[in-house]
Amino acid sequence: MTAPLRPRAALATHDVFNMPPHMGDRDLWAEDTALQEGVRREGAAWAEARIAAFGRLIGRAGMAEKAEQANRHGPELKPFDRYGMRIDRVEYHPAYHDLMALAVENEVASFAWNHAGPGAHVGHMALTYLISQVECGVMCSMAMTYAAVPALRASPAIAEAWVPRVLSGRYDGRDMPVEDKPGGTVGMFMTEKQGGSDVRSNSTVARPADSGTDGSWRLTGHKYFCSAPMSDAFLTLARTDAGISCFLLPRWTPDGERNAISIQHLKDKLGNRSNASVEIELEGAWALMVGEDGRGIRTIIDMVQGNRLYCAVSSAALMRQAVVQALHHTRHRSAFQRRLADQPLMRNVLADLALEAEAALALGLRTARAVDEAEDGPEARALARIGTAIAKYWVCKRAPGHAFEALECHGGPGYIEDGPMARLYREAPLNSIWEGSGNVLCLDVLRAMAREEEAVPALLAEIDAARGGHPALDRAAEALRDDLSRPEEFEPGARALTERMALALQASLLVRHAPQAVADAFCASRLGDRWTGAYGTLPPGADTEAILARALPGA
Ligand SMILES: Cc1cc2nc3c(=O)[nH]c(=O)nc-3n(C[C@H](O)[C@H](O)[C@H](O)COP(=O)(O)OP(=O)(O)OC[C@H]3O[C@@H](n4cnc5c(N)ncnc54)[C@H](O)[C@@H]3O)c2cc1C
Repeated sequence: MTAPLRPRAALATHDVFNMPPHMGDRDLWAEDTALQEGVRREGAAWAEARIAAFGRLIGRAGMAEKAEQANRHGPELKPFDRYGMRIDRVEYHPAYHDLMALAVENEVASFAWNHAGPGAHVGHMALTYLISQVECGVMCSMAMTYAAVPALRASPAIAEAWVPRVLSGRYDGRDMPVEDKPGGTVGMFMTEKQGGSDVRSNSTVARPADSGTDGSWRLTGHKYFCSAPMSDAFLTLARTDAGISCFLLPRWTPDGERNAISIQHLKDKLGNRSNASVEIELEGAWALMVGEDGRGIRTIIDMVQGNRLYCAVSSAALMRQAVVQALHHTRHRSAFQRRLADQPLMRNVLADLALEAEAALALGLRTARAVDEAEDGPEARALARIGTAIAKYWVCKRAPGHAFEALECHGGPGYIEDGPMARLYREAPLNSIWEGSGNVLCLDVLRAMAREEEAVPALLAEIDAARGGHPALDRAAEALRDDLSRPEEFEPGARALTERMALALQASLLVRHAPQAVADAFCASRLGDRWTGAYGTLPPGADTEAILARALPGA
């Protein structure tokens, strides 16, 4: 670790004081007690050394600088070469490639599959959580590459060729056929102009190729949101005579030509700016079918599920980073002759933010364990299914308000692009939108309840594991059980129902596993009568000192 930078504080007209020092290198694992406990508790203790080393690596000041550069100098579209021929290339800043290489080499996209077994997804999500605190743009590619593996495995020949590439741990950002690279990444083309949530409205058409014996298809149509467009292949939905089907669309055809994927437009996004998202047209593009003809949504749904878990954990990471930044600032800044972090009302805000972040992480890691255990039986499988939807909805929904509140703890500097808060704030809404926006996730919770007999019992059993731990939780669990037992029209109230499930689950996890100060304050606020969702509203008696000492060691 190098010492934090010490800029010149004695200026010509004044000395600079009462400003926080640079944070310098940090150890994102060592300073995060809740993460350490969660990883051990949920079955990934065996991976601790790997995760800890990655936490040290990604916490270095140089990594934050690379993230800053990759976002400030965003991707550029080069549709044509100098001779007027189409190349459809997106060029990134070198810092983006450096972070991609770092992520791939540290198995951020492949850990769960390379170390399959108990705790694999928990370990994977711990790596995701660590790097997402620093940079989310590269994580779009990492999440899709990770989540693509179950879909790729739906066709043995495709799996044989592609799974080793995505699990290789080698990154090569050059624009060339994957056959000539040591590894590859995978993206996803589903959304079209007329329908994103409603992918059954996809109009892209697939026709069997007229010539050749390779079983290939030709895809014609458009896609409206295509992130990480320099990925080596894309799982793509298109319509055949049998219905919506899933295809693997490589960026280069097997005979070494650029595939007929024309990039029309590079989107100018609110956040996630280091990552490119484009609009494309498919002009008879070469593709192979993945899974069964007409069952494309079934094939790609596992990828969607993996991405949804990623979104929840990534939003937990944004919260964690927001808490760290807010604590650092308020511990080094005074107003009215007193440190901000010592002012009672500020302590309430900070502790409330810390509770939210810890609860988000606990829910993310518990859901990851359910994914690890999904093969053990229908209960675990159902918990993974409904838990992913609940976590994606609630954690992602809470993240933007959380980022804003942490930003406000910084006062004016929080609003300035010099620090990470503005970027974090712009990033925060995205996880709630892509991979199923809020309403769609709540409707998915209802679908899981209707289709999976074990979903509600598994959820209630998980909540009940903390029975007797806090009276507010007991009351909330009982009320939830009552409501779920009544056959009624849930749809208009799906958000309220999902929120109650999420809060009860988070409370149950904290009551069983977190220190009493954390669990009590969470239950008394989130499950109390007066909670509005605004931060800084913990009821009297909350042990903010204990909560903040746990959130980030230090003064
Ligand atoms: C930066 C970015 C990158 C993206 N990258 C990709 C990518 O790489 N690949 C890809 O395929 N897609 C990508 N997407 C698209 C994303 O997944 C969709 O935008 C998202 O699924 C929503 O679809 P939509 O935009 O068509 O909104 P719509 O489907 O029109 O939904 C609009 C709103 O209506 C709500 N809604 C929809 N149905 C219902 C209902 N039945 N009841 C109540 N409310 C409903 C939704 O929750 C949403 O709030 C990306 C999006 C963004 C913002």
